[in-house]
Amino acid sequence: MDNNFTIYNSLSRKKEPFKPLHPPFVGLYVCGPTVYSDAHLGHARPAVTFDMLYRYLKHLEYKVRYVRNITDVGHLENDADEGEDKIEKRARLEHMEPMEVVQKYINNFLKNMEQLNTLHPSIEPRASGHIIEQQEFISKILKKGYAYEINGSVYFDVDKYSKKYDYGKLSGRVLEDLQTNTRSLEGQEEKRNPFDFALWKKASPEHIMRWSSPWSEGYPGWHLECSAMSIKYLGEVFDIHGGGMDLQFPHHECEIAQSTAALGKESVRYWMHNNMITINGQKMARSLNNFITLDQLFSGDHPLLYKAYSPMTIRFFLMQAHYRSTVDFSNEALLAAEKGLQKLMKAHETLKKLKPSLSSTVDISTLKTKCYEAMDDDLNSPTLLSYLFEGVKYINAASDGTERLASGDLEIMKSLFRTFVFEILGLKDEEAGKSNDKLTGDLMKIIINLRQDAKDRKEWGISDKIREELKKTGIILKDMKDGAEWEVE
Ligand code: ZN
Repeated sequence: MDNNFTIYNSLSRKKEPFKPLHPPFVGLYVCGPTVYSDAHLGHARPAVTFDMLYRYLKHLEYKVRYVRNITDVGHLENDADEGEDKIEKRARLEHMEPMEVVQKYINNFLKNMEQLNTLHPSIEPRASGHIIEQQEFISKILKKGYAYEINGSVYFDVDKYSKKYDYGKLSGRVLEDLQTNTRSLEGQEEKRNPFDFALWKKASPEHIMRWSSPWSEGYPGWHLECSAMSIKYLGEVFDIHGGGMDLQFPHHECEIAQSTAALGKESVRYWMHNNMITINGQKMARSLNNFITLDQLFSGDHPLLYKAYSPMTIRFFLMQAHYRSTVDFSNEALLAAEKGLQKLMKAHETLKKLKPSLSSTVDISTLKTKCYEAMDDDLNSPTLLSYLFEGVKYINAASDGTERLASGDLEIMKSLFRTFVFEILGLKDEEAGKSNDKLTGDLMKIIINLRQDAKDRKEWGISDKIREELKKTGIILKDMKDGAEWEVE
């Protein structure tokens, strides 16, 4: 636990040494997806960034409770409490139950997350499963006097809150500017101020997802779930809250206001935000036809893509940039990332076969220290990768015979790959899997042909024995019209 890990805190706007409140325990909360469409590139960046953080914290021997929520209710099309619920709208378009929509896109999201080799969070709470907690939270805010009820809806009183606390401290927005820049939207006349936000909304007659409450039959405002669920699972004060930079305002600013109003203190000690993704220099948007889902990226099925890119190429590509820098997606950049990843994995294969020399001609003992320094410096993955590629250079030179590596240095090099490439960066050798799959396929073809020869010679004992022995290892043979097929049980 004795380490030099520093992280950039978006609230103080500087790098701070990471000191958890109750070591070795660390509470980590990350805003998850609103599940109303297939997961896309925008989902990949926070997923990979906070997976890397989670992996590194675990590597530093912290006991991390990683909570990532799933928004399945209350996220309206416009963040200013306007428009239809995103999930209900999709349900109407797809002729599905809202919870059917939720399940469909949760499944898609989790599948993509597994393809990207992100570890499962400790808890993945859903907003719809925490309506009671959210209502209790509203009651607390009402009791403290920072919310008001009107026509069955409850709104947060930003004006009153900002007289005592600093609304805008995270995003740097100033209330006076918000006052002049926030339009009063139609149907929002009941708010005292246009920048007030909904904690509870009375459901209109056509609104499907609704719950009874002391105020009306309705549903919670989007920002509320993260305050209620983070505190439920991580305590009133917890260590790290993460999410995309686009969530700073209004979502995280509102979360801070809600929690501070209810508890009289700040809940989050370190706010971390990943930067955004652009595509060929443009913001990703459905209206610009550059909206690429992860499934499309992995299959290559999108007009902007030259080819399919593997999940590890995407993961590697994202980690080539620092998480606080913007990243621009283009085919050229992805092809370069694919090459870089192949080079790294090929060097790993070479390393496995290297024979130690009696002495070393290069000094790699400091490389490991440098790798830790890079990760300690606010997860500086691009710098880490540059050191790993320095290692690649030595491996290739040792393989050519232009440099020599003694057994101690070889061990350090192997541990660098194990620790940084696989454990912390979470990369996988996709080619190794493929060649294993190919090898298995080739071997099975040989076995099936041998069994067919036995059957042709009517040596039933042998053909049965082959089938039985395969079954013991979990491989099922099925005799079809034109030969046998196999599958793993
Ligand atoms: Zn959130």
